[in-house]
Amino acid sequence: MTRKVTVLGSLNSDTILHIDHLPVQGETMAMSDASTAPGGKGANQAVAAQRLGTQVHFIGAVGQDQNGELLLNALKEDGVDTTHVAQLANVGTGAAYILLESDSHNTILILGGANQCISETNVDEAKETIQSSDVLVAQFETPVVATLQAFKLAKSAGVMTILNPAPGRKTIPKELMELTDLITPNETEAEIITGIPVNDDLSMINASNKMQEMGAKNVIITLGERGAYYQLANGQRDFEPALKVKAVDTTAAGDTFIGALATKLTPDMKNIVESVRFASAASALTVQGAGAQPSIPTLEKMKEVRH
Ligand code: ATP
Repeated sequence: MTRKVTVLGSLNSDTILHIDHLPVQGETMAMSDASTAPGGKGANQAVAAQRLGTQVHFIGAVGQDQNGELLLNALKEDGVDTTHVAQLANVGTGAAYILLESDSHNTILILGGANQCISETNVDEAKETIQSSDVLVAQFETPVVATLQAFKLAKSAGVMTILNPAPGRKTIPKELMELTDLITPNETEAEIITGIPVNDDLSMINASNKMQEMGAKNVIITLGERGAYYQLANGQRDFEPALKVKAVDTTAAGDTFIGALATKLTPDMKNIVESVRFASAASALTVQGAGAQPSIPTLEKMKEVRH
């Protein structure tokens, strides 16, 4: 049976500004190109999980505008169920402005818009969908109260919960941490959450210990082109190096990694090694293409590359 993944998260219209390097304050600088693509951490993770072989149900919100229509259609074209995406009046669809440097690094500015209006009521309306899922995934581009409500519903039905704490927040409700089966920050977010700069093996372990003390059962810290570190509730831990590829645009690397994990990882975490390897392989493909959703691979693409 196809695995069912529910993603509670953001839908953003991405504007990608191609620049040589970041401007300094007050500078006027020419861009080499500008393009738009569907994005938002939630939508990217949903698209990744759907393209990699699960049935995804999305809980989110857009405005009643052209961008909202485009984003909804993009999800539908990928086969994501959008029954629980609200189309709200009097608020615009979320937007992100991505400053993409020629060395493939990105800096992102977000206008939350409709994403910030998702309420506990929207989540309650999706109760049956959440509770009949195998996995629930959420991030921090949507209100924490809604995530908390969704995680309560999920855990009361034994559904596995994955929290991608991005963008980073200094304060995460203890109750939410305790309802989290797997937390997946990148190194910057891990530092924001724990106060521990993550720059070597010891700090990875210390930051993971701290997140486990805060209530999260299992931890994966992603470290960009270096790879990913996992530390489980049962004490198992290891580092999975990233694949060596030529990165063009790292946008959505983390989102692909999380979407891919959601398609594979079992609640007992017994398949952690193969799940993390699968997620690394999928995100290594994403960084080789431009844009967020356009570069997220399908299962067929993964098979092509493996042969
Ligand atoms: P983003 O916000 O850009 O989506 P992130 O910061 O959340 O990304 P990263 O830690 O940058 O997430 O990347 C997630 C995973 O993607 C890494 O653990 C690694 O497996 C893979 N990855 C990222 N960058 C590269 C790269 N340059 N080459 C190969 N794999 C990469």
